[in-house]
Amino acid sequence: MNKFVYLFNEGNSEMKDLLGGKGANLAEMSRIGLPVPFGFTISTEACNAYYDSGETIPTEVMSQVLEALGNLEKRMGKRLGDPANPLLVSVRSGSKFSMPGMMDTILNLGLNDETAEGLAALTGNPRFVYDSYRRFIQMFSDVVLDVDTFFFEQFLEEIRTAKGYSSDPEMNAADWSEVIEGYKNIVEKHTRKPFPQDPKEQLFLSINAVFNSWNNQRAIVYRRLNKIPDHLGTAVNIQSMVFGNMGNDSGTGVAFTRNPSTGEAALYGEYLFNAQGEDVVAGIRTPRPISTLEAEMPEVYRQFAETCEKLEKHYLDMQDIEFTVEKGKLYILQTRTGKRTAQAAIRIAVEMVEEGLISKDEALLRVDPDQLNQLLHRRIDDKSDRVRIAKGLPASPGAATGMVVFDADDAESLAKEGKKVILVRPETTPDDIHGIIAAQAVVTSRGGMTSHAAVVARGMGKACVCGCEALKIDLKKRVFSAGETSVNYGDVITIDGSTGEIMVGEIPMIEPELSDEFKLLLSWADETRAISVRANADNPGDARKALEFGAEGVGLVRTEHMFMDAARVPIVQEMILAESFEERSAALEKLLPMQQGDFEGIFEVMKGLPVTIRLLDPPLHEFMPDKEELLVEITKLQILEPDSAELKEKEHLLRKVRQLEEFNPMLGHRGCRLGMVNPEIYMMQVKAIFYAAASVAEKGITVKPEIMIPLVGHVHELREMRQLVIDAATQIKEESGRDFEYTVGTMIEIPRAALTADEIASEADFFSFGTNDLTQTTFGYSRDDAEGKFLQTYIERKVLPENPFAVLDQNGVGKLVEMAVKLGRTTKPSLKTGICGEHGGEKSSIDFCFRMGLNYVSCSPFRVPLARLAAAQATI
Ligand code: PEP
Ligand code: MG
Repeated sequence: MNKFVYLFNEGNSEMKDLLGGKGANLAEMSRIGLPVPFGFTISTEACNAYYDSGETIPTEVMSQVLEALGNLEKRMGKRLGDPANPLLVSVRSGSKFSMPGMMDTILNLGLNDETAEGLAALTGNPRFVYDSYRRFIQMFSDVVLDVDTFFFEQFLEEIRTAKGYSSDPEMNAADWSEVIEGYKNIVEKHTRKPFPQDPKEQLFLSINAVFNSWNNQRAIVYRRLNKIPDHLGTAVNIQSMVFGNMGNDSGTGVAFTRNPSTGEAALYGEYLFNAQGEDVVAGIRTPRPISTLEAEMPEVYRQFAETCEKLEKHYLDMQDIEFTVEKGKLYILQTRTGKRTAQAAIRIAVEMVEEGLISKDEALLRVDPDQLNQLLHRRIDDKSDRVRIAKGLPASPGAATGMVVFDADDAESLAKEGKKVILVRPETTPDDIHGIIAAQAVVTSRGGMTSHAAVVARGMGKACVCGCEALKIDLKKRVFSAGETSVNYGDVITIDGSTGEIMVGEIPMIEPELSDEFKLLLSWADETRAISVRANADNPGDARKALEFGAEGVGLVRTEHMFMDAARVPIVQEMILAESFEERSAALEKLLPMQQGDFEGIFEVMKGLPVTIRLLDPPLHEFMPDKEELLVEITKLQILEPDSAELKEKEHLLRKVRQLEEFNPMLGHRGCRLGMVNPEIYMMQVKAIFYAAASVAEKGITVKPEIMIPLVGHVHELREMRQLVIDAATQIKEESGRDFEYTVGTMIEIPRAALTADEIASEADFFSFGTNDLTQTTFGYSRDDAEGKFLQTYIERKVLPENPFAVLDQNGVGKLVEMAVKLGRTTKPSLKTGICGEHGGEKSSIDFCFRMGLNYVSCSPFRVPLARLAAAQATI
């Protein structure tokens, strides 16, 4: 026979699958001798059996419940439904993972007209008994009989008003008795049956209702949000009642063993005298801070503080505890691991190591890397009110306030005047980079988590909300609307990049804090981890930030970002527009010293740490003016200055823009294909790198540049580009008379490169997985369109478990990574491997990279602390 029901003395904390978190902890607390009101737990297996038998409680479960009830009655010396000495119980849900408030609870079960009278006589406290009875009728009717609480509250309000009372404590026993009669009438009116008087019927109906609540809408949504599987089911805890509403020597409260907001090691919580549990949360009466209990009930406080310490030492983690005091006696009703902010998580973990409670490894596992984001960006003060007008994708965390602008030039010029601006665009391109730099934050209505705006903003640690399709942007009128709200150029908005929210007006912010505990925890992570952490950085400022956050090198310099400086774009365009080799070379000659300066800056900051520089990657049209804008300008000139040189120049520009147009630019003339067709561009870049290396070497900083060729799909591409690098090196060595070291590697971001990695490795010193493009090309999803168009639907409908542009698809894309590492190392055992796609800063992907034997992960500077911690967790 299956065992479905466990008395509290039959379980322990290891049995969460079967007894749920609450049941397992109640059993554990009974086991270690804490004052827990006795009871039993109906297992999660019984819940599944309930659903398997068409939502009825199987007879086997029923008989085991009755047997356990008999046991409970014997132990308490009371019987359910006995008017002479009635047992009252609570019925509570409790699944393996805590789902606070999502499922149902019933208190004071066992009360009926007869037991109420009996209990009133027994306790000599009819007021308390009738108060409990009316609470029970309301709760039971809401949860089991589906009668809305509103009807009861409305009735209570009428009675209170009629009697001229302003609050419940003014009600006397006779008043509550009147309320009970009214409540019973409400039930009969709505259900066409009298309120059930048989306590066993009450009990089984309640068990039914708790099982059903596993599948209420709230619970389903909560599970989806927190990735809790639907098949787990909930347990049901039946526990004898203790009463916090028995008078002023009784009370109830909730406390954390440490402060869940700051982590401070001091009891934190609140309680109410003469109240039942729901009064504390309902907010009708203001609870008192737990510290005042010491003066009010010193003995109870001492016992409670001791119990908290005992529980924390037992579970070795901060606990969230519910307690009740009945006539001066303390009972513990629940304990669970307390939820906490990132700041508190870090402080608690570090202090628990210092207190000798947990090991450093354990401390590292206690902090969720994802939570660290909260600490590295300015954020909205949780205490402030906010009215949101739209919600997009939370692309880059942090919050910002500023005036709305719709174009990058405006952003730049207003920022120069000292104004704070938020750049709002349908999408951004590399052309907008100066605007992004100038802006406090970026908002786009199109594009996903790896769209240009998102990647660039994250790289800069700037807040960004992208793919906010609810925004209707009118660039011409310089206004956007979201639902009923219109926001004009110059209006102030606030955005929260951690939630994707957009709000009108200014909202108070808090600055990021890097506490000493945080630094200490990260130093432990560095001692532990066996995979390096680098950062993606395109300029000395980012490189400095990366170093400050503990990066051990730069894993990706996207050199195209160096072409985007407002002063350089015309020269880049000159190069693109060149009609002859000579013309192009002249433009490149001008760009060379500029790029050299950039590289020198990065090398100097990184002081000899490895720096991987990727040669030009995006299609050239991205450096050209927007076609539509050009057309408008040409039309104007045709009318106003038809013979002007400017018109001719613009028309020439337009012809070139059209020539560069492609149907699928992401699959078009980009990456190493640019270098194959126009080697002089790559040649200029490589020379700039070597000149820079040579010049910083003179200052005593030795760099060994790692030159990376993007978007390779065939070994022949890499062979040719590698030769180009070697030629440049040879030439510069001859010119300068100086020897220097360098390596040449490739990005693996095309499936064919992964499939032929053994061939590619023969020409590569290192592989760096460009998992943004590798995801795009493996799935065949456009990284700029998918998220706004269909990916959300896919995720909601569980077609995909996650957004593959954010969390590496280990089964698909990951298989290519695994294969490429293996094949590559077959050819070249010393092959260095890393990842520089966005996944390099995501915890489960970092774990995967470690398991695949990669040497390093590289991510945005602001994600470096997260990556250090996640890398340590992967190693433990
Ligand atoms: C990638 O594709 O993963 C990558 C790092 O390059 P980018 O995002 O610049 O295409
Ligand atoms: Mg790429």
